Amino acid sequence: MLRPQLLALLARPITYDVAIIGGGATGLGVALDAAARGFSVVLVESHDFAGGTSSRATKLVHGGVRYLAQGNIALVREALHERTTLLHNAPHLAQPLPFVMPSYKLWEMPFYGAGLKMYDVLAGKAGLGPTEFLSAQETLACLPTALPDGLKGGVKYWDGQFDDARLALALARTAAARGALVVNYCAATGLVHDAAGKIAGLHCVDGESGQAFQLAARCVINAAGVWVDSFRQQDGVATGRPVRAMVAPSQGVHIVVDREFLPGTHALMVPKTADGRVLFGVPWLGKVILGTTDTPRGDLAREPRPFREELDFILGESARYLRRAPKAADVRSIWVGLRPLVRPADDDGENTKRLSREHTVLVSRSGLVTVTGGKWTTYRAMAQDVLDQCFAGGLLPPAPGDVTGQLRLVGAEGLPASLPPLSAPPGLHSYGSEAAAVAALPGADRLLGWGLSEAMVRFAARNEYARTAEDVLARRSRLLFLDARLAGSLAQEVGDILEAETGADPQVEALQALSRLYLEVPEPGGGTRMGLKE
Ligand SMILES: Cc1cc2nc3c(=O)[nH]c(=O)nc-3n(C[C@H](O)[C@H](O)[C@H](O)COP(=O)(O)OP(=O)(O)OC[C@H]3O[C@@H](n4cnc5c(N)ncnc54)[C@H](O)[C@@H]3O)c2cc1C
Repeated sequence: MLRPQLLALLARPITYDVAIIGGGATGLGVALDAAARGFSVVLVESHDFAGGTSSRATKLVHGGVRYLAQGNIALVREALHERTTLLHNAPHLAQPLPFVMPSYKLWEMPFYGAGLKMYDVLAGKAGLGPTEFLSAQETLACLPTALPDGLKGGVKYWDGQFDDARLALALARTAAARGALVVNYCAATGLVHDAAGKIAGLHCVDGESGQAFQLAARCVINAAGVWVDSFRQQDGVATGRPVRAMVAPSQGVHIVVDREFLPGTHALMVPKTADGRVLFGVPWLGKVILGTTDTPRGDLAREPRPFREELDFILGESARYLRRAPKAADVRSIWVGLRPLVRPADDDGENTKRLSREHTVLVSRSGLVTVTGGKWTTYRAMAQDVLDQCFAGGLLPPAPGDVTGQLRLVGAEGLPASLPPLSAPPGLHSYGSEAAAVAALPGADRLLGWGLSEAMVRFAARNEYARTAEDVLARRSRLLFLDARLAGSLAQEVGDILEAETGADPQVEALQALSRLYLEVPEPGGGTRMGLKE
């Protein structure tokens, strides 16, 4: 749907059942679930869909081996169930992936292997393959660049991986196909309370034209990720009940390097880094993602920057396991996401590793429903909980049931059993059953770079809500995340095609500046030094 049509729909004087703030995994999941139950739904996103945390995940659809180690069995069980559902409902965007944990100490294999066998038991029928103990030779066959010196063997287990931003778009489009109105670049600017102090809707503003709207809704869902507290505080002020911040943001850094550092189809899993975390090396869209970190962060920047210590930590840990250790000059892109971790009542904000990865749904006295925490993998379970809370609070008439468990997302209909893996470079196959529709557009044979064609840019503008060069290069294609320099060099070409399609300013220079930012090596102790690879 073209932008003027979207805005015309926003201007209708109707009362929605559900209005959602935030178009990340959480908000989009709620939009789809509510629309699939037959509710009228509107969702506004201040930036682009998945422009916040939801495009910056490690790309794992997982039960969470780490949560197993913490003894959080219920969370692991739920996530494993959701993993199965997602792999089934979007097989072009979420697939099984084998992981190998190389062991250099004899005790590691039985110790971690037992835990991973437990993971198999919890998965039950949802298991993707058995955990196996590997010899040193078998480990090197899976991870050809693992350090061979002192290698005792390894443990192989299965989890899933996905394309987070494209999955978010698939959720948005599937929700829209069920009647939801989803609008990016439209910020919620305030809440509307009725005379009795109950939530009655929200104010929002189109970021391009400045046009303001007031949306009436029976139920307002605050799914603004790490930014949820600003709406909770507004609600508190309006109702005379100050609230305490519930989110303790924690940043996670990823770096991307070429596949030669970790060839093959297996991911590397390091069960315990120097600071007690899990580190992954994940083959993804023709490159390798290394990460991540967990650093408490006081501010809520749209583009948080890594600390030098975080980069050094990832490079240093990788060097402990890889024959050729990547250096700062090998990094193709560095990106940072903020985890919306939920703060326990007595938390001092210092140690985010121990905070809950489970989600929280809060219904305020005025009826504002806030949902945050959790992880991408469990977006569907979170959406169900949100709707259950709306029913329990009398905000919506009950329409119970699991309506999305079998609901295939856009692009997932009628796909063959075997698809190219997500570890392979992107291409037409990334569009699933929509590949033919993309191929039929002008410019299908004109490849701009790394699996991105002119036709894909047109498709992004016509069908995937893309407005800017960043929308295309960061989230429809993932080039900014995979190779920031290449993304910057394609910005003008992509912008020209977009502008011809939409008539809007594609903001080419903003993408070029962002691509430079994604290549910046942070200076030790604070600032940044330019130029990873000249
Ligand atoms: C480093 C890292 C790695 C991770 N890895 C994984 C992983 O491998 N697997 C996994 O399952 N999970 C992972 N997660 C967790 C997962 O990414 C998050 O739980 C999830 O993306 C949160 O989604 P969200 O919708 O709540 O937040 P967001 O994606 O941030 O969405 C909130 C949205 O609200 C919008 N917004 C803010 N203010 C307004 C406003 N005023 N009006 C309208 N919109 C507004 C924002 O622009 C944003 O798009 C990871 C998280 C991080 C940080």
